[in-house]
Amino acid sequence: MANWTIEDAERLYRVKRWGGGYFEIGENGNLHVTPAFDNPDVRIDFNTVIEEIKQEGVQFPVVVRFHDILRSQVALLNQTFRQSIKEAEYQGQYQGVYPVKVNQMREVVEEIVDAGAPYDYGLEAGSKAELLTVLSFETSEKSLTILNGYKDEEFMRLALLGRKLGRNIIVVVEKYSELLSLVRIAKELNIDPIIGVRSKMTVKGRGKWESSGGDRAKFGLTIAEIINAAKYLQEQGLGHCLKLLHFHIGSQLTDIRSVKDAVAEGGRIYAELRKMGVDMTHVDVGGGLGVDYDGTQSTSDSSRNYSMQEYVADVVYGMKEICDLEEVPHPNLVSESGRAITAHHSCVITQIVGEIKNSDIQFDTQASEDEHVLVSNMRDLVPAFDNGSNLQEIFNDASQWKEQAIEAFKLRVISLEELAKLETLYWQIMARLNQELKQVEFVPEELKGLEYALSSQYLCNFSIFQSAADTWAIDQVLPVVPITRMNEEPSVNCSLVDITCDSDGKIDQFIGEQGISDVLHLHKLKPGEEYYAGLFLTGAYQDVMGDMHNLFGRLNEVHIFSDDDDPADFYIEEVVTGSSVSGVLSIMQYNPSAMAKDVKRAIDRQVAAGNIKPREGVKWTDFYEDCLHGYTYLKTGK
Ligand SMILES: *Cc1c(COP(=O)(O)O)cnc(C)c1O
Repeated sequence: MANWTIEDAERLYRVKRWGGGYFEIGENGNLHVTPAFDNPDVRIDFNTVIEEIKQEGVQFPVVVRFHDILRSQVALLNQTFRQSIKEAEYQGQYQGVYPVKVNQMREVVEEIVDAGAPYDYGLEAGSKAELLTVLSFETSEKSLTILNGYKDEEFMRLALLGRKLGRNIIVVVEKYSELLSLVRIAKELNIDPIIGVRSKMTVKGRGKWESSGGDRAKFGLTIAEIINAAKYLQEQGLGHCLKLLHFHIGSQLTDIRSVKDAVAEGGRIYAELRKMGVDMTHVDVGGGLGVDYDGTQSTSDSSRNYSMQEYVADVVYGMKEICDLEEVPHPNLVSESGRAITAHHSCVITQIVGEIKNSDIQFDTQASEDEHVLVSNMRDLVPAFDNGSNLQEIFNDASQWKEQAIEAFKLRVISLEELAKLETLYWQIMARLNQELKQVEFVPEELKGLEYALSSQYLCNFSIFQSAADTWAIDQVLPVVPITRMNEEPSVNCSLVDITCDSDGKIDQFIGEQGISDVLHLHKLKPGEEYYAGLFLTGAYQDVMGDMHNLFGRLNEVHIFSDDDDPADFYIEEVVTGSSVSGVLSIMQYNPSAMAKDVKRAIDRQVAAGNIKPREGVKWTDFYEDCLHGYTYLKTGK
């Protein structure tokens, strides 16, 4: 198509739909980023970021972080709550917290704490290590620190240390026995704790995390236990410490109805407890604010059918309505949105380093004397397209002969060379079939898989286990788009494969023009020209959940700050070096310097035996050591 436009590219990649206002396709066909929502003049051409990364000598794949996007999301969430509270004439305040488990990277948490200071935005921790982390950050005086997750005695003591430091630390009781140990330790140390209770909810969220609610939920107290907890605290003279009701019905809530239902249920519990004389002041609605990964704005697992504004309004107005009906004070509102805060701010940029395609293989298929009839049958199918044969019949015959040929090969009836010819012809026929199918209205069921079978596999220099764990573990869809050439029509249908030695190391679920597609449209690779693709919205969970499969380890990272005065509108504030081979080996209990010595000794022996020249031996020794200290991923470029 000669007149391919940016609008066509937008329809295909849906950048604006998933981009959250930060990403769009520029007129030059490159991806553009507007990282600060209050400054639309800062517009970064992503290709200039790649050029600068190369100039800095940083090897790909690279995680690119836009700190301004993080700041923007923190401001947006807080401003949206404030606005909604004002409009609703809601009497309580919003005191949100960022759950660090979503992305614990120091620079990320630092940026969020800094951007959140004007809003008294706090932090949430769910484990001892996270609690130790959170305690080391200086959040604003009024902000909350919320502690979820299962807790041992040490955890409780750390929480009370936080109280000593003057912080508003709320220990959320997930399990009744935690209350007993908290009370015991608080009395021993003579410190008043601030206590929250997590309610086991009957409402279930829709989506991948729906088991966070319902009777079999792993966290939370039943209604009976909550009432018992309140009574127990009163008996112990600590009734005034119970301040917060917590619930969390799951992450990535796809349907706004579950948010409304949860607020209705939680609001009722709060109101009843108030009426029973419990002096609760806060209701914490947990996380769950979703991200529209596939840009469909639907209840599909990778999307959501609501906006941030709508979510916030449903929390604020929902709580107000119940409290007014029940004639209890409006509680302060807490939410623990992590995904929505961090998802957009980082992405993984990788180079496509090769193409794997069955139907492109060049092989001489000329007829030879006394070749097997299966091979000639297959060859004779080629003209069948021109004499009007039924496409399904051609497909059936070709498939059957291919199967028979493999059997015949095993029985030593046809030769290796004949099998190669037959397979080559088979793929040529399939490619032709796929072309022909584009002209027909009705595509038979069996032939629908042809597009996928014929698609290329683009080999990407990254590991899905490190950089996109959820696409592997829970079929999460993440947007993948090329960084350049979006003003050209993409002519290659492909899926993506990574460089791990694992056939699971692939992505074959993409944003498609209609819903989810098993192929992605990318551009034909040009010899000698680099082609980069980005995996987007990796800032929540993906950044920190990666594992060490094949010992690839962490990626090089580049932190981008926007700067209106800079010609390119940005500068690289920091480069964080990813894993070196010696680094990942040390984790696996190897001693890289001993390894280098061992290999050097082996080389020396060969030198002594005259099998390697001394000069050459030194080169090999240095080469081994360089690789040992180098990056774990493929070395691409010059
Ligand atoms: C994981 C979790 C969150 C964060 O949820 P998001 O959906 O990422 O916002 C918040 N609260 C609790 C208790 C969690 O377990």
